[in-house]
Amino acid sequence: MSEFCPVCGGAVDEAGTFSVPVDGGTVKFCGLDCLHVFQLYPEVYLGLEEPSTVLIEDTSAT
Ligand SMILES: [Zn+2]
Repeated sequence: MSEFCPVCGGAVDEAGTFSVPVDGGTVKFCGLDCLHVFQLYPEVYLGLEEPSTVLIEDTSAT
């Protein structure tokens, strides 16, 4: 089973260098940056919360 970084969708580090334990297993990431993002908003990437409030930011607002 191929694994993909839940944050950016890229290929994970198969060695598990960048991973965090979660309920029922371990989540792997492509790198430290994505791991940090996941730790900030774990509920979003675990599918427990609608991501729209966090991921969509309208920076064009005046
Ligand atoms: Zn990533």
